[in-house]
Amino acid sequence: MAKKTQVETRISSEVDFEKPGKQQGFLRLPHSVHRSAYGWLGIPVVCIKNGAGPTVLVMSGNHGDEYEGQVTVTKLIRELKPKDVRGRLILLPMANYPAAKAGLRTSPLDQGNMNRLFPGDPHGTPTKALAHYIECVLLPMCDYVFDLHSGGSSLMILVSSLFKKSPDDKRTRRTIELMRAFGAPVGFIDLHDSSGTMSAAALRQGPIHLSTELGGGGTVTVDALRIAEEGIRRVLKHVGALRPNYKTKPGAETRVVTVGGPDYYVHAMVDGLYEPLVDIGDEVKKGQPAALIHFPEAPWREPEKARFERSGLVLCKRMGGRVEIGDCMFHLATDFKI
Ligand code: ZN
Repeated sequence: MAKKTQVETRISSEVDFEKPGKQQGFLRLPHSVHRSAYGWLGIPVVCIKNGAGPTVLVMSGNHGDEYEGQVTVTKLIRELKPKDVRGRLILLPMANYPAAKAGLRTSPLDQGNMNRLFPGDPHGTPTKALAHYIECVLLPMCDYVFDLHSGGSSLMILVSSLFKKSPDDKRTRRTIELMRAFGAPVGFIDLHDSSGTMSAAALRQGPIHLSTELGGGGTVTVDALRIAEEGIRRVLKHVGALRPNYKTKPGAETRVVTVGGPDYYVHAMVDGLYEPLVDIGDEVKKGQPAALIHFPEAPWREPEKARFERSGLVLCKRMGGRVEIGDCMFHLATDFKI
């Protein structure tokens, strides 16, 4: 029987988060539609609780077309037993379930982009109701939240961990430690002001948050998945959520970088067919050409040249050939001074 919480929400959980052992089931979100008048959406959730230790939420599928995290969390769910855990793990592989089921960034039910809709709304659309449940029911239980993202269908991002900088330097240093434990080759610190994201939700509710960008391009690469799978186990062990003798492999040295203002980005300023001139992982100089935009409909027209407005490391590159005005083609990162 699904259990009610104290917080106002339409969602009920089949899993009792206070009960020891390993439980699996659904978060039930009532969804009354033409083909199912009294139906609900079933968002898969697993809770593994064993003795004293931190509470950690590990989630993926916040954006439904980011598959590396969904594979990683699904495998964790099947592998971990209560004896492996210290404290409580809450595992949510398809956080925005309708988007994840459709393999889309946003939900096909309401076009909701979950990672722009926190803190959500208990009476709102399915994406808003789910965002509200995660922020207002799950996060207050947690000491840590690891939200696994990647570049999705439209971007490819160097395999990295990331978090949003808080005004609290102690919290920043603590999260950099988590980045180093995760052991991706790059860790980036987001300086943007973005109240609708999970990073902002975690700052509001308290748990320490670490996210990732695990490649993307609407696919799963062997290398990104290896870093994701090994990294999540390392970071869970680092925070004391796995038994001390749980076996993990060593990670990479993490280069800590930051992504700053608009000059870090290269956007298309014209519609056309995009030819990248650099790749992720390249170091570029201010003024260097980033891409040519061709016009195959008028092939005699000179291509438009887009340039980098500053020097830096190419962290992110657009996938897909066609661009429209306003599409992000690249963004850079620069070393973060701690
Ligand atoms: Zn994402």
